[in-house]
Amino acid sequence: MIRFDKISKVYNDGTEALKNVSLTIPDEQLVVIIGPSGCGKTTLMKMINRLETPTSGEVYVDGKAVSSLDPVELRKTIGYVIQRIGLFPHMTIEKNASLVPNLKGWSKEKTAKRIRELMVMVGLDPKQYLVKYPLELSGGQQQRIGVVRALAGNPEIVLMDEPFSALDPISREQLQMETKSLQEKIKKTIVFVTHDMDEALKIADRIVVMKSGEIEQIGTPSELIENP
Ligand code: ADP
Ligand code: ADP
Repeated sequence: MIRFDKISKVYNDGTEALKNVSLTIPDEQLVVIIGPSGCGKTTLMKMINRLETPTSGEVYVDGKAVSSLDPVELRKTIGYVIQRIGLFPHMTIEKNASLVPNLKGWSKEKTAKRIRELMVMVGLDPKQYLVKYPLELSGGQQQRIGVVRALAGNPEIVLMDEPFSALDPISREQLQMETKSLQEKIKKTIVFVTHDMDEALKIADRIVVMKSGEIEQIGTPSELIENP
């Protein structure tokens, strides 16, 4: 469980990005945080893996205060997928996907098996693709590898920040559906940031609507459709 307790964030230039936000994200749910550009979604999400720190308040992951955890250790347990995934171009897909398992000291066999399972789940033939380099793949395929890389170390939590925004509509739709079915299979907690309500309604168990640094509404997709 992830719990935000009275989080405020004021950046050095005086921008008030979050105003006293409290929110609980239960385990094994796909929670979408939605709202217009600049409303604080990314700032809130980055507090989970300590890429940002609150000005006041505390974030708890499984009851532990994030401010008391070592950021490097924390990030081994939290997968992260962003818009332009930034695979290392000089490394094969297999090497890229093995980064966190290697940091965790997994055996070669365990890592190879896990990565092959994930490749199949995202619809890429391991034999064909693991030996390739990122630039030999399409944008949609690279984002799929981003998802494989984020899940490779078997994290409990996966953060996804506008992961499919740069893709064409067809790849985007496919990846939305795949994310949903992947989440149903692996039962991880996924926190997904987007500004696209259609996307949120398609994939979310719960939707958190933000506006100007505050939470405006929380509900299931059907609750939000009934009470827009
Ligand atoms: P969103 O993800 O909803 O687009 P952000 O969390 O990125 O919103 O940003 C929230 C607000 O904080 C915006 O006004 C943004 O310009 C500002 N902001 C984000 N990061 C910084 C930063 N490092 N320094 C100053 N202001 C920032
Ligand atoms: P994204 O929307 O993909 O997260 P941004 O362009 O919003 O990328 O932000 C890129 C980086 O700049 C982030 O680290 C963010 O925190 C920071 N940033 C965003 N807005 C501001 C701002 N108004 N002033 C200073 N830094 C900012």
